[in-house]
Amino acid sequence: MKQYKNLINGKLVDSKSGRTFENRNPADWDEVVGVFPKSNIDDLNDAIAAAKKAYPKWRSIPWPKRSEIMRSVAERMLEKKEELSQIMTREMGKVIKETRGDTQEGIDTALYASVEGRKYFGYTLPSELPNKMCMTRRDPLGVWGLITPWNFPIAIPTWKIFPCLLSGNTAIIKPATDTPASVGELAQILHEAGVPDGVLNVVYGGGGEIGEGMLNHPDIVGISFTGSSDIGMRIGEVCGKTLKRCSLELGGKNGQVVLSDANLELALVGVLWGAYGTTGQRCTATSRLIIEEPVYDTFIEMLKDRVEKLKLGNGLDESVDVGPLVSESQRESVHGYVEIGKKEGAKLITGGEAYTEGECSKGWFYRPTIFIDVKPDMRIAQEEIFGPVLSVIKARDFKDAMDILNGTVYGLSSSIYTNDLNKAHKAIERAETGIVYINAPTIGAECHLPFGGMKQTGNGHREGGWTAYEIFTEIKTVYIDYSGALQKAQIDTWD
Ligand code: NAP
Repeated sequence: MKQYKNLINGKLVDSKSGRTFENRNPADWDEVVGVFPKSNIDDLNDAIAAAKKAYPKWRSIPWPKRSEIMRSVAERMLEKKEELSQIMTREMGKVIKETRGDTQEGIDTALYASVEGRKYFGYTLPSELPNKMCMTRRDPLGVWGLITPWNFPIAIPTWKIFPCLLSGNTAIIKPATDTPASVGELAQILHEAGVPDGVLNVVYGGGGEIGEGMLNHPDIVGISFTGSSDIGMRIGEVCGKTLKRCSLELGGKNGQVVLSDANLELALVGVLWGAYGTTGQRCTATSRLIIEEPVYDTFIEMLKDRVEKLKLGNGLDESVDVGPLVSESQRESVHGYVEIGKKEGAKLITGGEAYTEGECSKGWFYRPTIFIDVKPDMRIAQEEIFGPVLSVIKARDFKDAMDILNGTVYGLSSSIYTNDLNKAHKAIERAETGIVYINAPTIGAECHLPFGGMKQTGNGHREGGWTAYEIFTEIKTVYIDYSGALQKAQIDTWD
């Protein structure tokens, strides 16, 4: 069991509160993964002061030099890939092949940053006036607050930390209380790779105290938040009052459509991965399966058979398909939705209960669950469940399927299985989601492409790729007049 400390101004320090909290393995609650400082506002204020002090020097280092540090981060993460992945499986439960993927996404994001630092460009444009040039450049903003969820303990922090720092900002990160260890290990790597003291600070603690403290601090210029829509709305409200920049990546209720002309075997492996990967705890998880009427019964039969064969267990066992839920409260919340689904009249055909056999008796396991004959307006078809529960809905035809797909307040990811080229293109056009997959599941984003959602999934920003850098930089428009005279735009004429 490791004792973690806050990272403030390059030093590992205990909280001034003297309090700590434990993080336990959700597959085996007897195992304490780590003990962490339960920080208070004094710790946060120290971290913000350190980040503020470090900012002027850090922003003056040229982008390509900052990007060299990112390359070193990628190399160190690669060396430690297995160690990081095992810690992640122990702290949040997802199976080892997925935590390796999570770590790899962080490595890819660092490599992307190492290149972006040499090519991040502005525009040059012609002027209306002679002997004058116009251009744009991008500059950092200052000290950022980064707030992350528990379901991607390495990847999501890297989506924020790397573009934020590469752009010349400094930051404080508050990781989720359920997954603090991964961020602790990541911060250590950044420190060893040469990120100067104070540029990245880690403050552990609760969202209500440390998260809220960031929102309200006058020296924080922006908040980058990934988490639930409820908390996201609260953050947007507080940031709106002080005009802090605020990027919000929130919940999803993603649907996979299976049309009757689709390759059903392909659609089947897609939904198994999309719905039960990460035990359904992905923002992009397939939570609704929308099947066109002619193949509805056949597909459900195929699906039930395969779902019942999924192996549950400790994610460190390479043969396991589905790990535990992250916590007791998450299991209670998922089971609560199963009870709601039953009351609403949906038909439960498999799962619907905790799984407590053998070694799983000491973890937060839940049987992969399928509800069929779900109506599009039922709560289990509308609200984010964030667990291994799939709601299956019958669609009359393609148009009906698209209406059902779009009929939620969320808009993160969608998937359409069809071999009809025309329908595929129409679906791409009509889907009200930030990400659309054709003949692939709702999960599987790549770090060099924009990532984010429409409607209540966010506030219009996109992480991933070049668009992440738009969040963390400010556009500056520059006019350079080399005429030696006063020239007046819109007033001087050529007659
Ligand atoms: P959450 O409960 O909203 O928490 C997210 C983070 O916010 C945690 O670090 C949490 O701290 C902190 N927090 C809680 N209350 C706060 C407050 N009042 N002010 C500031 N920060 C506060 O979400 P979660 O359960 O960790 O993650 C699951 C959710 O994230 C799902 O809705 C999922 O869809 C969404 N998600 C979205 C994306 C995306 O890119 N769109 C990606 C992944 C996950 P504590 O841990 O200490 O409570």
